[in-house]
Amino acid sequence: MPLSWRSRGTPLTASGRSQLSGLAACLFCLWLALAGTSTCASPLAINAPVSLAQLEQRIDLAPIMSYWLDADQTATLTSLPPATSPEWQTNAGGKVNFGSTRAAFWLRVSFTDLAQLRETTYIRLDYAHLDAVDLYLLDDDGVLQHVQTGDTRPFDNRVVRHRTFLLPLPTDHSGPVGVVIRVATQGPMQLPLDLITRSALDAEEKPLHIWFGVYFGVMAIMLLYNGVIFIFVRDLSYLLYLVYIMTTAALQFTLYGFSFEYLWPASTTLNNLMILLLTGCMPFTAIAFVWRFIDLSRIGDRYDIAMTTLLLAGFAAVLLGAFVMPYMTTLKLAHAMSFIAVSAGFYLGVKYWIKGVKAARIFALAWFVYMVFIVYYLLAITGAIQPDLVSRHALEIGSALEVALLSLAFADRLNAEKELRLNAQLKLNQDLDLLVRERTDELEKANQRLKEISNTDGLTGLCNRRHFDEIFALEFQRAFRDKTCLAVLMIDVDHFKSINDTYGHPFGDACLQQLAQLIGDAIRRPPDLAARYGGEEFVVLLPATDLEGALHVAENIRAAVEKSPVRDQGHHAQITASVGVMSAIPAHRDQREAFLSRADAQLYHAKRNGRNRVEGTDSTDEPAATTPSPSSRTAG
Ligand code: GH3
Ligand code: MG
Ligand code: MG
Repeated sequence: MPLSWRSRGTPLTASGRSQLSGLAACLFCLWLALAGTSTCASPLAINAPVSLAQLEQRIDLAPIMSYWLDADQTATLTSLPPATSPEWQTNAGGKVNFGSTRAAFWLRVSFTDLAQLRETTYIRLDYAHLDAVDLYLLDDDGVLQHVQTGDTRPFDNRVVRHRTFLLPLPTDHSGPVGVVIRVATQGPMQLPLDLITRSALDAEEKPLHIWFGVYFGVMAIMLLYNGVIFIFVRDLSYLLYLVYIMTTAALQFTLYGFSFEYLWPASTTLNNLMILLLTGCMPFTAIAFVWRFIDLSRIGDRYDIAMTTLLLAGFAAVLLGAFVMPYMTTLKLAHAMSFIAVSAGFYLGVKYWIKGVKAARIFALAWFVYMVFIVYYLLAITGAIQPDLVSRHALEIGSALEVALLSLAFADRLNAEKELRLNAQLKLNQDLDLLVRERTDELEKANQRLKEISNTDGLTGLCNRRHFDEIFALEFQRAFRDKTCLAVLMIDVDHFKSINDTYGHPFGDACLQQLAQLIGDAIRRPPDLAARYGGEEFVVLLPATDLEGALHVAENIRAAVEKSPVRDQGHHAQITASVGVMSAIPAHRDQREAFLSRADAQLYHAKRNGRNRVEGTDSTDEPAATTPSPSSRTAG
């Protein structure tokens, strides 16, 4: 609107000039009055400007701005209601979140004393996901500047290359300046409007950059760490986990506008598509990962498998839908399903933890933590609560904590598997040990049996001669060492030949068996040993037994044989036996044969002296005399 006024026509007289100047003054006043009225009525009029003379760092404009809702999004700058109109609502409560709406929002706020600004100062709309933002700078002459931005417009349109929407105020302007902003968006209408100086912005950005550095750093470390583990372990769940970390980090990167700023500044289509794809992809990989981690296909029940399959199919549909469905519909669907996915992760974690899958406990905790932060985030973006620092970073905090906890869950699972393996190994070893022991026992028994068989005479069950020789050698050495008596009894059936001849060989065998039984019954002390020496001859070894004792045993045997007729195969026969006894303390180591031949000689005596008798000696001297020696004793 023109502010200069110039007279036209010829020069005038002084009085005329004074009259004219009076008229002019009147007209000017009238014009001013009219102009004033029209200024008030104009949508561009600036009212109640905020003085920036004392500006320190930042002013929150939310409680200062007034706003008007353009329900059908048809209004233009010139068709707005007048600045004084009550249609402009004040936002005294400083509300920032206006929820989801189809209306376009018009905001207005004005400033004065811009010349006193000490540094570059920006109007800032601090929410990166607004679709279309039109920023108008006005003064009383009209529009000073119009910037079209928003995340549906190329990043390169921005006056200041920044995630958020910034417009520098002119510092060389003497009069008041108005700011009118139009916002139309399909997402949540969050309008955190403020005025901030360059230094304050820098100071605010610094911790934010540190925060993002830490967040993306943590994600990068997790990616690297788990990537290396994957290379070694080659477990599919690690791969899914890696993809999950990547999509989570990429989604955050994109949501914060970094992708738009650095990766695809010219393409708003790609930006929106990527937000949808990543929002859908993140829970998709999460669910695939849950499936694999808990090993649902092996231990899961029907319902869990059905639910998870449905979820996977749902996300696949959302991913495809991203290409055809409206942005907001897809985003809302993806958000709702993300929440279901995270809840499902938590539910499955708790369920299989209770079922005894130990690794599921940290896993459940990880999903729970993420779920809490997602709920907080969703509450903030749906307008249920006003955004704060935590809600703004809820997804990063939640996802970073979750990713770290999941990493722990992996370690926990590796541990549990190791324990299982160790236990299995231990069990295998024990089984093997048991088996070896059983086999060894069996083998020992078999050996024992074999030894018994090899030591036993087949007909009588007494020891055989081979075994007798072994034991005799040992006992002889012991007797020699200990200087104790060792007795040997030689027993021979009398007239056995005729028994065989009369009753037959089998009956003879029965006689031998009965005799063996009687001999066995007669010896009671453990070291005593009876053996079949050959044919119908038996030998008895009696360690630590003097002649008297040996004669006693011999006599018992003889008497028992005499008393026990043999009945077998319908025959009945009375048999007798003669016994030769030798008992002495061995004088030399190699006297064994002498002992045996002495006993044999005594047997010979017994035969010669009439059979069915016992002859004995304790002398190791010369071979048996034809007459009993003085020390010989006879029984029978
Ligand atoms: P003596 O009173 O002098 O001992 O007379 P004898 O007939 O018993 O004579 P001898 O001791 O020489 O007898 C040996 C006989 O024993 C020869 C054989 O017929 C018999 N004989 C040896 N071994 C066995 C055997 O295993 N079974 C049977 N039935 N007879 C045997
Ligand atoms: Mg004989
Ligand atoms: Mg005989």
